[in-house]
Amino acid sequence: MNSISHIPKAEIHVHLEATITPSLCRKFAKRNKVILSDDFFGSEYAYQWEDFYDFLKKYDIVTSVIHTPEDYYELTYAYLKECASHNVLYLEAMVSSTHAKAKGMTYQSFLDSIQEASLNAERDFGIVSRYLMNGIRHLGPESVQGTAEEVLKNPHPAIVGFGLAGDELHFPPHLFSKTFDMLKEENFPITVHAGEWDGPENIRKAINLLHPTRLGHGVRSIEDLDLVKEIIEKDIVLETCPTSNIATKIYENYENHPVKKLHELGAKVTVNSDDPPFFNATIQGEYEAMSKIGFADDVLISMTRNAIEYSFLDNQKKKEVLTKLN
Ligand SMILES: [Zn+2]
Repeated sequence: MNSISHIPKAEIHVHLEATITPSLCRKFAKRNKVILSDDFFGSEYAYQWEDFYDFLKKYDIVTSVIHTPEDYYELTYAYLKECASHNVLYLEAMVSSTHAKAKGMTYQSFLDSIQEASLNAERDFGIVSRYLMNGIRHLGPESVQGTAEEVLKNPHPAIVGFGLAGDELHFPPHLFSKTFDMLKEENFPITVHAGEWDGPENIRKAINLLHPTRLGHGVRSIEDLDLVKEIIEKDIVLETCPTSNIATKIYENYENHPVKKLHELGAKVTVNSDDPPFFNATIQGEYEAMSKIGFADDVLISMTRNAIEYSFLDNQKKKEVLTKLN
């Protein structure tokens, strides 16, 4: 066992539907009578894809095998079990009601299943987890607005925040400002993907128009040091996903990835696996990669602390998890 196994970890940027392993994917496909051709399964990554747009397409097809609340239960429990085995204390995963409803599940039924898996995994392995509802940019502003309204009207114990994911380049922040003003008005915690595909100008717009306390990725802020300063001053945490960015060719390798520089400049960073099997990523692997590029163990632990402190978990439970960390 290497030293990374002993470092307590936390993950706050991972898409639950995208944690599906090839074996679960095949199992669900069989059970739900979905025909998946064998060329979805790759040799370099668990699933084969060419570029980001092909990735988005394959993502939809691979996750289309998830049909029932029971599938959600199995998927959630399996991922939590895997994370707990890597000493993950806390997990915050993004989920998509758009996906669940497209498959005929009700809002309540899929979230109840996730919640049941979450409670059982906490009982069985000690891992605490909560979930964020994602609006999907490329489905358009009305879809995102509808998703957010449903979340606010139907409070669910599993859901602690709202996120914005999908095609960042063609669906810029201003399209969604009405929705995020509404969420802010209700004091609903917000994180948005920004600064993965697009540069500093749109990160700035995302901060000013969408009121996030965390940014999904946010790494391209490194291209404008005034923006990095603003992120630090506004106490915004970066959910960086180095392996994901390398897989999608935004950066060449871990040494060239800005996570280290951002940390050195004083930004609060966390590391995350994003869409694990699509990139052969694991949360353990992210910590390992950071250790290899020179993050000392105490820095790795401080990233875990950032993730828990800036998570959207309620204060009482947050205290409990932080006590475990300390
Ligand atoms: Zn993401």
